[in-house]
Amino acid sequence: MKVGIMGGTFDPIHIGHMLAAEAAREAYHLDEVWFMPSHIPPHKQKAGVTGQMRLAMTAEAVKSHPSFHTLDFEVERGGVSYTIDTVTALKKLHPHIEFTFIIGADMVNYLPKWHRIDELAGMLDFIGVNRPGSDLDVSQLPEYLQAVVKIADMPLIDISSSLIRKRAAAGQSIRYMVPDPVYDYIVRSGIYGI
Ligand code: ATP
Ligand code: MG
Repeated sequence: MKVGIMGGTFDPIHIGHMLAAEAAREAYHLDEVWFMPSHIPPHKQKAGVTGQMRLAMTAEAVKSHPSFHTLDFEVERGGVSYTIDTVTALKKLHPHIEFTFIIGADMVNYLPKWHRIDELAGMLDFIGVNRPGSDLDVSQLPEYLQAVVKIADMPLIDISSSLIRKRAAAGQSIRYMVPDPVYDYIVRSGIYGI
């Protein structure tokens, strides 16, 4: 079985994440995509809303897709979420699953700085998708990474969680930037003040 891991802070999850996962699923015939909110991402500040809330939004986002699921692994583990630790544990738990890790172009370019990336690159392949603001040029990566980063095409989506948080804080609409059930959750819970 082939499973793509879609990792992120998901503060909140938005249509860029959904399309990235769908593009990767289709291009590489993934049986499932597991959306995994991080607890504390290594490369940025702690998310503003709790892991349980980000998990709840993620569950809302994936519920209509038969191949999309949530994974509470990093939120439950707590601490800083290093992908190397997660992938090591997941491979032990599921020795017969072939995992890939789905990332946007900004993260593709950042890959050389990931914690213990040389080891991680020996453990699984990455699927990179394009994203406005970052060139998706795998040839700029060190050779050991070029060998493990595959590309899936997706329509450019100029949306980020930061933009959505900023819009919500300014009282601007975020409708359709997030899946409808996520929008409903955000309004119901009041977590972004709308
Ligand atoms: P923030 O603005 O808080 O950094 P974000 O929108 O970048 O949020 P993350 O949770 O940081 O979302 O990203 C999770 C993963 O999804 C990363 O690999 C990122 O590159 C990818 N991603 C996020 N938004 C898009 C997008 N619009 N198009 C393609 N990939 C995206
Ligand atoms: Mg980001």
